[in-house]
Amino acid sequence: MQLVRPSSVEEAVAALRGGAVALGGGTDLVPLLRDRIVEAETLVELHAAVPRGVRRCTPTSTSPSPSSARFWIGAGTPLAVLEAEPEIPTTLREACRLAASPQLRAMGTIGGNLLQATRCWYWRLKFPCWLHGGETCDAKEGQHREHAIFGNERCASAHPSDPAAALLALGARIRTDRRDLPLAELYRLPTDDDRSMTTLEPGELILELELPAAESSIYVKAMDRQRWAFALVGVAAARVGGETRIALAGVAPVPWLVSSPEELEQATPLPGTAYKLEIARALVQRALAQL
Ligand SMILES: Cc1cc2nc3c(=O)[nH]c(=O)nc-3n(C[C@H](O)[C@H](O)[C@H](O)COP(=O)(O)OP(=O)(O)OC[C@H]3O[C@@H](n4cnc5c(N)ncnc54)[C@H](O)[C@@H]3O)c2cc1C
Ligand code: SF4
Repeated sequence: MQLVRPSSVEEAVAALRGGAVALGGGTDLVPLLRDRIVEAETLVELHAAVPRGVRRCTPTSTSPSPSSARFWIGAGTPLAVLEAEPEIPTTLREACRLAASPQLRAMGTIGGNLLQATRCWYWRLKFPCWLHGGETCDAKEGQHREHAIFGNERCASAHPSDPAAALLALGARIRTDRRDLPLAELYRLPTDDDRSMTTLEPGELILELELPAAESSIYVKAMDRQRWAFALVGVAAARVGGETRIALAGVAPVPWLVSSPEELEQATPLPGTAYKLEIARALVQRALAQL
């Protein structure tokens, strides 16, 4: 396997042509390469190519409220930097602080976090399940305690990213090497014809994020233990420009926006995930009360 280390976005994009794979901090990708779930002849290390850091920025023409303060975050910024950044909205800071372990947050970048693969063990153990191109969802018929309560018609996996829920609640936008889009449009529910969970094209790089300064925001997370665990349910709530938005982690194959607490009642839990709906109701109530 070849490792290339471009020093600019242009070099990285050129190196990614022809099936090479982008390497952020490697905390998700390296185990997938080790287990041969991802195959790559060339890895393109993004460290010196993709921007990192946080700063207040000038609103863009696509900003929902052009007069309000906004933040720019480089996609190569480690979660450990974001969890210690006092100015960014609380929901994002908390979502980063409550993710993974200190070592993983020191290595893992926000861009890689948004694109991490499912934690479904059937998928990670290479069962020929629906998401791997097979016919059935093994989790639905087998063990699915950690799985989805929304959007689970085909694949019942639960999106593992806490920061993605926070950024969705904030109405963040991302910029790639070829377009600018709301974070909500980065994700898609997989279909029989296209089983990918994001709208990224092959070789497309996330370069930066832009998000508003919320009037108030929060992230609350239910876990099997209090540290170093994926969300059973994570709830991000943010008030921006007088509007309150709620987004959930750990409940659907992609980060999940709900327009009101009542919308939780449209969940389609599996026998083993009905308890998640109870947790989601309680956490949404708690988040809105604290907001
Ligand atoms: C034990 C463990 C516990 C964890 N717990 C949590 C948790 O509780 N909450 C949570 O949110 N996360 C958790 N994580 C996930 C962790 O936060 C992510 O693995 C990490 O953030 C990924 O970032 P990375 O830079 O290491 O990505 P990589 O592993 O380098 O890459 C991940 C994917 O993103 C692609 N990629 C990376 N950067 C870019 C870019 N800029 N543009 C385009 N593609 C890119 C890669 O090609 C790859 O497909 C956990 C991980 C582990 C191993
Ligand atoms: S939940 Fe998705 S990834 Fe897991 S077994 Fe079902 S189809 Fe595969």
